[in-house]
Amino acid sequence: MSGLDDLPSLAKVIAAHGLAAKKSLGQNFLLDLNLTEKIARQAGDLTGSDVLEVGPGPGGLTRGLLSQGARRVLAVEKDPRCLGALAEIAAVSDGRLEVINADALEIDAAALLTPPIRVVANLPYNVGTELLVRWLDPGQWPPFWDSLTLMFQREVAERIVAQPGGKAYGRLAVLSQWRSTPRIVMSLPPEAFTPAPKVHSAVVHFTRLEAPRFPADGKTLFRLVAMAFNQRRKMLRAALKGAAPDIEDRLRAAGIAPTERAEQVSLEQFCALARTFTEGKA
Ligand code: SAM
Repeated sequence: MSGLDDLPSLAKVIAAHGLAAKKSLGQNFLLDLNLTEKIARQAGDLTGSDVLEVGPGPGGLTRGLLSQGARRVLAVEKDPRCLGALAEIAAVSDGRLEVINADALEIDAAALLTPPIRVVANLPYNVGTELLVRWLDPGQWPPFWDSLTLMFQREVAERIVAQPGGKAYGRLAVLSQWRSTPRIVMSLPPEAFTPAPKVHSAVVHFTRLEAPRFPADGKTLFRLVAMAFNQRRKMLRAALKGAAPDIEDRLRAAGIAPTERAEQVSLEQFCALARTFTEGKA
């Protein structure tokens, strides 16, 4: 990996390529290569895997993924200013790094990769959440990826892993935990980034489940969960009134008291409720 070790520091790369961070692209760069290697390690054993990296920027995390032995890295970056810096990494990657200049929301990167595939990204929050929803709720399951290792605002990471009974528990927790096991594996202070954002960040590692944790039709489950949490302070018999005229019976059949609020309902209970719509009342 000596070629990688001989590359200039990321601060020098940013200066040489004029990569002043653009707010519009959510650019908060990681410049500490020890840190980017540590993040890459959270993705698991990369030696036999293809990696999809979204938003490589100047390439700190990309270097980490390559030095952790990734079989191949496909890096999708929207900002063309970053391409020169990324080409320098590709030149010493033994053909393992390919860079695409594109909006990650608009391309089918999975079609360009060979399983097993791990997704790793330090993305702006808005794009990250949208991609997360697509990765967790694709047309078919199992999805193209084996694991996702993604940076989020700490508060979003806490919503992803939240359990019933608290304010953080909601749609994102149900979506994330129904078909994967998410874990917060690292916390990062604002100073870890250049420029420093206002909030703390955290890395979440998602391991996919081969089949959903509890049986349910995804569309029905997500529709009910959205309705329930849209009016999270209301009792479920009121929040879900529009879902079915006999919603109270369905709630009871799923083991949920109609007077409970969404925050109290477990993933297993939401799945049981969804099944009353596809299997008839229990
Ligand atoms: N991975 C680098 C790091 O850790 O230093 C950069 C992280 S920075 C938070 C986010 C990166 O995502 C930027 O390089 C930005 O240009 C890129 N980006 C933003 N929106 C994107 C999109 N829709 N598709 C691909 N890349 C995007």
